[in-house]
Amino acid sequence: MKHVISAKHFTNADILSLIETAIQMEQIKKQGHGLNLAGRIMGALFFEPSTRTRLSFESAMLRLGGQVISTENAREFSSAVKGETLEDTIRVVEGYVDVIVLRHHEIGAAARAANVSAVPVISAGDGAGEHPTQALLDTFTIARELSRLDDLTIALVGDLMYGRTVHSLVYMLSQFPKIHFLCVSPSTTPLPRDVVDFATTRGASVQIENDLGRAAEASDVIYQTRVQKERFHSMEDYEAVKGQYIIDEHILARMNEKAIIMHPLPRAGEIAPTVDADPRAAYFRQSHYGVPVRMALLARCLA
Ligand code: ASP
Repeated sequence: MKHVISAKHFTNADILSLIETAIQMEQIKKQGHGLNLAGRIMGALFFEPSTRTRLSFESAMLRLGGQVISTENAREFSSAVKGETLEDTIRVVEGYVDVIVLRHHEIGAAARAANVSAVPVISAGDGAGEHPTQALLDTFTIARELSRLDDLTIALVGDLMYGRTVHSLVYMLSQFPKIHFLCVSPSTTPLPRDVVDFATTRGASVQIENDLGRAAEASDVIYQTRVQKERFHSMEDYEAVKGQYIIDEHILARMNEKAIIMHPLPRAGEIAPTVDADPRAAYFRQSHYGVPVRMALLARCLA
């Protein structure tokens, strides 16, 4: 079964082969054909908001000649409202589709779904847990923009505790040699201990750096993130944390010439719009890489 549940499950060889397939998918996307998933249906079950992940998965499936059925607000409009368990929903939907793309608000939901599903389940984010397909497209972005996946210093900036894309990215990049993470976060939202332990066990180094300017000078990649407002227990706690680290022209001035700024998006003030025109601002290109990468994943899951 080709479930995609955690970035930890990808081997180095898996990642490199998916990147290679994604590069071929960029060609297929440009040429407008490559109909190898004709007759297959992807079901997108989204219990939390999404723009990029859902639309790029849908676009990827359509570009491969497949079809899509989608519920974009499953928390309100699916039978979950009537008390149906996730497991029951999956047992029903698996009869309608060939692959399920699931976004859910609970950590571990994708693994629970995979446990009962007869078709592949691809996690599109499980609460504050993981977002493995984002990690794959982030890794693809670094490979595409910097032409390497080793010997990298990556500043992880913002809400490292609830930011699921950060967790998956750390799991994925830790597979490669000479990876150095600089954690720039408010003291109340640090990178979780188990994520740090995973990285260091794999040979990556993890260091706390409170000064964003210093991190900018030292990094090949600045991975900025949004403070995950929806995960905070009180608005007071959120207000205390937001806006602490902002990338603006002062930070740009301290960055290396070849370094890049990434962000899984959406941004909520943590990158000034004045930064967008700088060639080092890679976040919109990054969002576009989501299509070929998800084409590669769907092709693998449905092969
Ligand atoms: N879009 C990303 C996610 O779903 C990042 C974010 O929402 O801040 O995790």
